[in-house]
Amino acid sequence: MHYRIGIGYDIHRLIKGRKLYLGGIKLAHTHGLLGHSDADVLLHAIADALLGAAALGDIGKLFPDTDPRYKGASSSGLLKKTYALVKSKGYRVNNIDAIIITETPRLEKHKAGISRNIAALLGISAGCVSVKAKTNEGLGPVGRRQAIAAYAVASLEKRK
Ligand code: MG
Repeated sequence: MHYRIGIGYDIHRLIKGRKLYLGGIKLAHTHGLLGHSDADVLLHAIADALLGAAALGDIGKLFPDTDPRYKGASSSGLLKKTYALVKSKGYRVNNIDAIIITETPRLEKHKAGISRNIAALLGISAGCVSVKAKTNEGLGPVGRRQAIAAYAVASLEKRK
């Protein structure tokens, strides 16, 4: 069996007047993430982990933020396109492990739904997608509630 591992990281500013999407789920919150697309920081980190595992570049290259086609784009669609590319090279995802770092909103009651949604986007079982959430202990821009960050690791298997 031929296994590959990839890592992804992303951070977006948290501002008033934007909708908040995390893992493809719209969450009720006073602030949302700023970006060219819907700025779903978790899906961006996961897409980069998938691309990294397959050595296919990054989402900045795949979906440039200078391209008007991706203005306000749903990151769920971008993740699906990313995984379609990865699959076209003969890879299938085994599992994903991710961390969202944010002071607000608290994600305890949303984590399971977010994980199920990501699994559905990729067509894998929810048990293959781990989503963890933590605060930044009040430190830095995430701690000051000015941003949300996410890390993800993806494992791929090459199918013959
Ligand atoms: Mg991003």
